[in-house]
Amino acid sequence: MIQKERIKVLNTHDNDAPVEYVLYWMQASQRIMYNHALAHAINVANEHKLPLMVCFGLSNKYPEANIRHYAFMLEGIKELSPEFKKMGITFIVAIREPADLVIELSRKAKVLICDHGYTNIQILWRKEIAKKAFCPVVQVETDLIVPVEEASQKEEYSAATIRPKIKSAMTKYLSPLSIKEILNKKPCKHDIKIIDLEQTTEKILSKLDIDNTVPASKMFKGGTKQALKLLEELKTKKLKKYSELKNDPSLDHVSHLSPYIHFGQISTLQIALELKNTPEKDNDSFLEELIVRRELAFNFVYYNNDYDNYKCLPEWAKKTLDKHKKDKRSYLYSLKELEQAKTHDVYWNTAQKQMLVSGKMHGYMRMYWGKKIIEWSKTPQEAYKTALYLNNKYELDGRDPNGFAGVAWCFGKHDRPWTERSIFGTVRYMNDKGLERKFNIKRYIKNH
Ligand SMILES: Cc1cc2nc3c(=O)[nH]c(=O)nc-3n(C[C@H](O)[C@H](O)[C@H](O)COP(=O)(O)OP(=O)(O)OC[C@H]3O[C@@H](n4cnc5c(N)ncnc54)[C@H](O)[C@@H]3O)c2cc1C
Repeated sequence: MIQKERIKVLNTHDNDAPVEYVLYWMQASQRIMYNHALAHAINVANEHKLPLMVCFGLSNKYPEANIRHYAFMLEGIKELSPEFKKMGITFIVAIREPADLVIELSRKAKVLICDHGYTNIQILWRKEIAKKAFCPVVQVETDLIVPVEEASQKEEYSAATIRPKIKSAMTKYLSPLSIKEILNKKPCKHDIKIIDLEQTTEKILSKLDIDNTVPASKMFKGGTKQALKLLEELKTKKLKKYSELKNDPSLDHVSHLSPYIHFGQISTLQIALELKNTPEKDNDSFLEELIVRRELAFNFVYYNNDYDNYKCLPEWAKKTLDKHKKDKRSYLYSLKELEQAKTHDVYWNTAQKQMLVSGKMHGYMRMYWGKKIIEWSKTPQEAYKTALYLNNKYELDGRDPNGFAGVAWCFGKHDRPWTERSIFGTVRYMNDKGLERKFNIKRYIKNH
């Protein structure tokens, strides 16, 4: 079911030219299953008895993206091609700036449908397309379980304040979605120079003019198929003890779904529905992370224009960090030393190396990692830039609302003041003794 609150008309330009298809621009949600935007596009095409064209623009200029991110994304995109073919839907991928590609294709479109994006570049693209497209543009939210404005009309203070709002709205949105058959399966004609998706990922990557300093992850392969395997593993092996073991970096008891969710290769709605039939005590803690924490991050990015910089922090956090900005730092590291994992702290270095190599640092270590960057940087502002830069460059799930909120959390966002101490003021502090006390942290080092 596609709730009407997911649908937003971005413009109502009528197309006077002869139309040949309905166009669906796939961007944030790179999947077929549980994709409300695609489902809506199929419905509209069927209503007008037109075929559907799906397009994807591979931008050379996506901020902070590199080979690691593109390789993972392309693995997912390549999987979609035969699926669309089977469905009778024309799917084209081109190395083009998405807005240019979509505007050109909109000349022959009855309606253009797109998914929702929350970061600045995604919003800019949609604005440009809404302004210049030759046909009506409709955006359909399919990234969240509860659409952001339905959950709350303002920036929320913390998980505690958004939780009851999400929970009360959730029953309405936690409903399955089926993708209908497209009735008109005629191939759509176009003059676009497209990529042959049967080539290897490496070959396609070699045609892109992007940062090639960060190699593809050897641990994580992109695509919906892989995401579904991880979901199965979560259900059968990890869910029961998730709340007890999720924080332990020396164990592998997290889902590893974040990169797949980030690229929209799997929907959180599908995950939540599949877990719904497991006993509540088993899935409660996982759904808290997947829905409450994640959708709090989207609330932050949606309502806070400064989500990607230090100014986004609550006043109390900025004030206390400022008061302590001249406190003596026992260790100071440059960006290069941090990037190369060359600090005195073996736990921190291991976490940094885990991210450098695999593209995914354990969630608990991300908190410790961010806190230490504050402790070892000249100013909190510099620490903020460093943490975001490293997170977005190396994490497969980086450049995501969760990443912006995660870094901000290290500096006090969505948290409360704690006991005052040097450098941090009343911002929560973490130390290595905590890691040693709670976990077999030596095993973490041995394993990475
Ligand atoms: C400094 C810092 C940076 C972070 N950067 C990112 C990032 O770039 N991208 C990213 O997706 N997450 C980020 N997080 C949040 C969290 O660490 C990751 O979502 C989690 O580690 C992903 O691994 P998983 O899918 O195996 O997690 P699981 O424990 O299996 O969790 C399942 C899902 O729940 C959601 N989730 C879990 N923890 C959080 C959280 N704290 N906040 C919001 N959603 C959560 C994610 O969608 C995750 O995929 C960051 C946290 C911190 C403290």
